[in-house]
Amino acid sequence: MAKIGFIGLGNMGGPMAANLLKAGHQVTVFDLSEAAMADLASKGAQLADKVSAVCTGADFVVSMLPAGKHVRAIYTGEDGLVNYLEPQTLVIDSSTIDAESAQFVGKALAAAGIAFVDAPVSGGVAGAAAGTLTFIVGGSDEHFVKAKTILTNMGKNIFHAGNIGAGQVAKICNNMLLSILMAGTSEALQLGIDHGLDPKVLSEIMLASSGRNWTLEVYNPCPNVQDNVPSTNGYKPGFMVDLMAKDLGLAQQAAQQTNSATPLGALAKNLYNLMQNQGKGSEDFSAIFKLYSEK
Ligand code: NAD
Repeated sequence: MAKIGFIGLGNMGGPMAANLLKAGHQVTVFDLSEAAMADLASKGAQLADKVSAVCTGADFVVSMLPAGKHVRAIYTGEDGLVNYLEPQTLVIDSSTIDAESAQFVGKALAAAGIAFVDAPVSGGVAGAAAGTLTFIVGGSDEHFVKAKTILTNMGKNIFHAGNIGAGQVAKICNNMLLSILMAGTSEALQLGIDHGLDPKVLSEIMLASSGRNWTLEVYNPCPNVQDNVPSTNGYKPGFMVDLMAKDLGLAQQAAQQTNSATPLGALAKNLYNLMQNQGKGSEDFSAIFKLYSEK
């Protein structure tokens, strides 16, 4: 049993923290949302009255926050956790953020004698609930081995991508590809529908053909093709358009640094920005289907 502090109990962090509790760890949680805190309390978590209280006696502190600015602020901002973390603690940040922010926080914590890894995840809310996430870890061999001891309680595949920041680079490559697959799948489904095909039948055909991909398998963007997916549930997230747009911005920043050509990633970013401008930022990212279906 480990003593774990957990910050950020949203769509992903809530079920991840619940799985740590299920595995028998002692978990102290903090979120700005009282409802999210109350939900975790009902599952056996201890509630921190302020964010610094998650640090006391912790073997691990895990964070699952929206973006780089939140992670920088929590750890290294005014009255940041760098002032409260204890030497035995390994900090695991699982948020999807820019690699520079991960490296900045990692350096600041290292200067205070605190170990850090970035460990962004893939697998969505369903994977978080089922404990089957993929973790992509950036950090030293020693810290990777230590992090793995609790990441296996929340995920199935735990990868070591390289040094601090490498997890984030791998994650944004994955999400850029995911957004392209989601847009492409939506486009193909609507083309079939426009020509009178049943989207369920078309999905089955493409699943058994060379267009097969993760969105068709478990996250079909067309309503009522699959049960228990955001599209069938009014596009309630899931993974928000705003978060996907953020990740696509990070991918474009990364591409600029290395002069890498990412034309489809740039197009996907523009499509998700268009959705934000239409007021769809809080919908699930599979709502991109509506760009094609709404005539
Ligand atoms: P979310 O918006 O549902 O949750 C974020 C939580 O952080 C909220 O509960 C919010 O109250 C809390 N928070 C924000 N600032 C805080 C602060 N200063 N102190 C304490 N709590 C604070 O987001 P999410 O969908 O859970 O995503 C979290 C991260 O995981 C993001 O970086 C996202 O890109 C990434 N991610 C999400 C998914 C997904 O499918 N939702 C999948 C993989 C990765």
